[in-house]
Amino acid sequence: MQEKITLVVPCYNEEETVGLFTQAIIDVQQQLPDAFLEILFINDGSKDNTLTKIKELQIQYPDRVYYLSFSRNFGKEAGLIAGLQHAKGDYVTIMDVDLQDPPSILIEMYHKIKNENYDVVATRRVNREGEPPVRSFFAKLYYRLNNSISEVKLEEGARDFRMMTRQVVDAVLSLPESNRFSKGIFSWVGFDVAYLEYENIERSAGNTSWSFTQLFNYAIEGLISFSDAPLTIASYVGLFTFLFAVIYGAYIIVKTLMFGDSTPGWPSLAVLIVGMGGLQLLSLGIVGKYIAKIFNETKHRPLYIIKESKLPEASHSATPLPKTRRTPDK
Ligand code: UDP
Ligand code: MG
Repeated sequence: MQEKITLVVPCYNEEETVGLFTQAIIDVQQQLPDAFLEILFINDGSKDNTLTKIKELQIQYPDRVYYLSFSRNFGKEAGLIAGLQHAKGDYVTIMDVDLQDPPSILIEMYHKIKNENYDVVATRRVNREGEPPVRSFFAKLYYRLNNSISEVKLEEGARDFRMMTRQVVDAVLSLPESNRFSKGIFSWVGFDVAYLEYENIERSAGNTSWSFTQLFNYAIEGLISFSDAPLTIASYVGLFTFLFAVIYGAYIIVKTLMFGDSTPGWPSLAVLIVGMGGLQLLSLGIVGKYIAKIFNETKHRPLYIIKESKLPEASHSATPLPKTRRTPDK
């Protein structure tokens, strides 16, 4: 029997790209006779006509295109988890819809995972051409920082684009946290991972929906979710500054005793107050971040809300019929 690969594709305002994407997948399908490529679009509360476009594609390709549609924008991470939870294929692949994850690689991915016994075939970009240099710079810096302080290492340039066996998908889904940082989770679950490399490709159409601030927050999220090193760093910085303040204080006292208070002394005071104040805020901020995480986790909110969907028949969890009460025969 032909094996099934479910492509999990989160979409946010992608009316221009969903059609191109589907076409590209159908082209790849021609070259991949031993597996069936099924597309599961997750419409992440798009404000344009993405859902209408997806529905049209679903009618056009009824056994290939399926979708979940959220009640609002929940973010790409929520889209990914929803997709993984509903994907029923033997293998599951996460892909962006904008063709920055070249569909042609699917063929190699499938052969590698099938014949070389890997559990995951992931991808890595070898360059970041076409990206603003500032963004690349911060991305590099971030990977270095993360990998030096966090136990969960992130592969530089690794994309979310990856094919996983059912076993890996189940492992990923078994992590209960609601603050989901996929890059960290994928690394955390382990398994045998092969990396395929490719050059950066620019978006086929539309615009990236990530602003710099969003990326920055995403980066912080990643650090905090998988490492408590920032807490340790905060305590060290605090300790060293305190020691410095003590030594500096002693120096000032000795100096005043020996030479008298020639200067009013406010500069050193000001410096100390500002320095200590800043440090306290820094540490408090870091601690606060972790508390905010705990707060979010304890709320146990659902990660997304599905407004409508069209899923393959088999995976429809049919609403159980109300149990008819047995009336005692009289
Ligand atoms: N995306 C999403 N929800 C969001 C933002 C993005 O589902 O809130 C999807 C988007 O449609 C695309 C993928 O996530 O398929 C990657 O987004 P984008 O191409 O904008 O990011 P970049 O490639 O620039 O990192
Ligand atoms: Mg993109």
